[in-house]
Amino acid sequence: MPRHIRIVLVETSHPGNIGAAARAIKTMCLDQLVLVNPAVFPHAEASARASGALDILEQAQVVTDLDAALTACVLVAGTSARHRGLGPPEITPRVCAERLMAVSADQDVAVLFGRERIGLTNEEADRCHFLINIPANPDYSSLNLAAAVQVIAYELMLARVAPAAGREHDVLPATVEEMEGLYAHLESAASGSGFLDPANPRHLMRRLRHLLGRARPDQREVNILRGLLNALQNPRPHKHNKD
Ligand code: SAH
Repeated sequence: MPRHIRIVLVETSHPGNIGAAARAIKTMCLDQLVLVNPAVFPHAEASARASGALDILEQAQVVTDLDAALTACVLVAGTSARHRGLGPPEITPRVCAERLMAVSADQDVAVLFGRERIGLTNEEADRCHFLINIPANPDYSSLNLAAAVQVIAYELMLARVAPAAGREHDVLPATVEEMEGLYAHLESAASGSGFLDPANPRHLMRRLRHLLGRARPDQREVNILRGLLNALQNPRPHKHNKD
């Protein structure tokens, strides 16, 4: 089944990397390459490195800003060679691939890759729902751009052929909006109960985001948590259940 997954390369300097990225995505059954302000494109080096993936290069969309690259996307992941103190939650390539696969059958999603020298800017990273860091040598964590594309494309391929085991087929994963609703509910419950001091929130909500991001609750699980929060916020005497 074709997937609506865009691989977006931001301001790539070396045309060879664009060609190698095209090859990487075609080997993993992806087909949408979007180039934001490439330094040189088209270029013989890009075509040479694409090898049998020239069709991907020819169909690549070249745009002048990130907004154009992300049109209609419901989920955006950014990749980063370094951990950013402040920014969207960081998740593993595997979890990210599962999330993207879950929605990409009928909705547009994108993965952003940064410049060879400086990666993505903080403003670009903040446009992402989450960030992916490919685990690597802590003293040498920056992969070649096309190699990073290959790793993520491979994870997307794995998620496509082997959907997460043990999940119930009848319940969909929670959407970004549903998770935001849960986070807002948790925050109001936490501050209403005195557990969270709004004047000194520390990192409670970010930590809860990380916890629930790892758990990837489905819609029913989110409803259970919100029902529980409602009940804790409005305690009522126990009603005997006759069933
Ligand atoms: N010095 C830059 C490295 C850029 S490498 C930086 O600090 O971000 C070029 C691009 O390859 C990155 O922007 C990212 O998209 C991808 N990349 C390289 N190594 C990566 C890693 N370990 N995890 C995730 N993405 C990586």
